[in-house]
Amino acid sequence: MISSILGAQTNNDISKLVAAMLAETPLEEDLQELCDEIGGRVTGSAANELSVEWGYQKFKKAGVKVRKQAFEMPVLWLPEACKGRVSGALDFAPVMVAKYQTAPGSYTAELIDLGYGKEEDFVSLAVQVKDNFVLIETDICFDIAGLFAEYIQAAKVEALAEKYGAKGIVFMSTRPNGLLYRFITSKGTNVPLPQFVMAREDAKRSLRSLRKGQRLSFVAKLKATVGEAFTSENVIAEIPGTEFPDEVIVIGAHLDSWALGTGANDNGCNVSMMIDIARQMTQANIKPKRTIRFALWNGEEQGYFGSHAYTQEYEADLDKHMMALSVDIGSGPIIGFFTNGREKLIPIMDSLLQPVDTLSNFLNIINPIVGTDNFDFMMQGVPNLVANHKPALYGPNYHAASDTYDKVDLVSLKKNSAIIAAMVLGYANSDIDLKRHNRAEVQQMIETQNIEFSMRMFNVWDSWVNKTRGIKK
Ligand SMILES: [Zn+2]
Repeated sequence: MISSILGAQTNNDISKLVAAMLAETPLEEDLQELCDEIGGRVTGSAANELSVEWGYQKFKKAGVKVRKQAFEMPVLWLPEACKGRVSGALDFAPVMVAKYQTAPGSYTAELIDLGYGKEEDFVSLAVQVKDNFVLIETDICFDIAGLFAEYIQAAKVEALAEKYGAKGIVFMSTRPNGLLYRFITSKGTNVPLPQFVMAREDAKRSLRSLRKGQRLSFVAKLKATVGEAFTSENVIAEIPGTEFPDEVIVIGAHLDSWALGTGANDNGCNVSMMIDIARQMTQANIKPKRTIRFALWNGEEQGYFGSHAYTQEYEADLDKHMMALSVDIGSGPIIGFFTNGREKLIPIMDSLLQPVDTLSNFLNIINPIVGTDNFDFMMQGVPNLVANHKPALYGPNYHAASDTYDKVDLVSLKKNSAIIAAMVLGYANSDIDLKRHNRAEVQQMIETQNIEFSMRMFNVWDSWVNKTRGIKK
């Protein structure tokens, strides 16, 4: 079957590349530098700028053509310190952090137990909620399903808290043992209410008191550097195609991270993978027929601003973008790909993965992913993929202080790099030519796959509707 889409020379090159990826390479060393020496990389921070230069130099040293692509981030928000105090019947300092775009300052109000923050909870406690902080109970997050459940709960609570005039929201951390993490809210860069994540144990301590009928007051103090729009940069490298240089396969991972941890599984591991694939292809003198473009995206955590900017700058060339791949679900073993609403991509992926079928059992699925850098390609109708992984340590450490180098599954990361390299080279050398979808087809995919709520949850629905994002016709 594979011979039907890949020729003998391509199969040769794939074998050579897979062997090179699986042999000893600087992949781990690069990742360690990025995580330990540069550290957490919030877009707009000095560390983030260092990481851009680092990525740029890595491609350059590998002999790969590279540029920095400047783009505008709408607002600057760099948290510095967050302190809390619960007083009244109890008196202690809970450990907490602010969610993205909470305005710096000092907030004082009563803390109200709102259970899981369902509409009926808000209805029955409407009077108490007004001008106070609601404390929201959560379930423990074990995996990616837990993460999405958390995003969904938070989006609903945000809307209700605003509707019922709460002063702010305190979410119980979904991870035990004092672990904290940061999210964006469903309002992206325009957050109407201050929102905090409180250590699970501290939130439970507060809830036990409130459930005995005691009253608690709450103070939160947030120090953060905030500012207007600023310039950030993606790193864009490419190996030009020999036969069809204007036909492009984009593969990318985001360079930025939140900075509670050091952005290891999210997403330093896959940044290092991109660099290593480019390096090994160049070293082995493998020349793809179509151009392979390697992107280290920036501004992803705030709402995929870097990849969005790419689709704007290259808008006129998107008909010639044959595929865009995003790798952003950590370092657990790759078990297939999300084809993001494209039925025809499933058998194609089945074929392209045959040369590496000894490395995993693959299952390619149609489900679309909203929440990472494939998004703007998907909205532009460009065939796009997201690698699907076994969850491994991704969920519990997601965006948390514990997302550090020691959590990376280095054995799987190596195999993953071989899988991605083989698939991408196969794609670049094949004559796969899936037509770009028009606006009506993308709209149909949104409806068939039922992703409107996810798009709203990540604050990207309105921009699709008002055509500031996505294909226009
Ligand atoms: Zn990520």
